[in-house]
Amino acid sequence: MAELFEAIPKTVLAVYAHPDDADVACGGALARWRRQGSEVYVVLAAEGDKGTPDPALPPEELVARRAGEVQRAAAALGLDPPARLGYADGEVGDDPGLRARLVEWIRRIRPDVVLTHDPTAVFFGEDYYNHRDHRSLGFAVLDASSPAAALPHYFPAAGPPHQVKQVLLSGTLQPSVWVDIEDDVAAKVAAVACHASQFADGGSWVIQAVRRRAEEEGRRAGLTLAEGFRRLRLGG
Ligand SMILES: [Zn+2]
Repeated sequence: MAELFEAIPKTVLAVYAHPDDADVACGGALARWRRQGSEVYVVLAAEGDKGTPDPALPPEELVARRAGEVQRAAAALGLDPPARLGYADGEVGDDPGLRARLVEWIRRIRPDVVLTHDPTAVFFGEDYYNHRDHRSLGFAVLDASSPAAALPHYFPAAGPPHQVKQVLLSGTLQPSVWVDIEDDVAAKVAAVACHASQFADGGSWVIQAVRRRAEEEGRRAGLTLAEGFRRLRLGG
């Protein structure tokens, strides 16, 4: 029997690599929790500067365009604009510098639930393997959440320790909990559709794609529409 994630987190921190990743990965859950009263923060590591096949489009123009898309997408989910860490695409390294910044965020926001990429999900059939920024960031967020944020001798200048209770990993091959997004799929579709720079043909297919994915996860969970996550319980 599929396990549903029905708790309403007090504070949620979603950390994703690229401007559209959080909306695609967990936009429904974030909209749901915000609607239910959770504090929801989104942090984006990379700027999306290489997310185009068009060699004539200057990266700085693309970054500015995508920054606008991110703001509109957050508004569609009922959220404040995400914070941006400012890395270039392909250069999100799982190193102490990034982990220090993530620990700072965790100790400042003090989330009970952290969401990020599943860094162990590498190969998705024959069609796709996971972007290196997703893999690097996923491991960095895991290591920042535990043990680093919880123990005072890691990054002592980053604020008082905080124990994250649960991490939910998206883009996973091993989902273990599902969030019902039936009431929030419209917000998710609206948010994903804001990232027009990523859709060569204007993106009319995006609505169907988001719904189809939510239906697939819903079937696994015994729900109409869902998002699936791999859950790690870290303490408390
Ligand atoms: Zn991405």
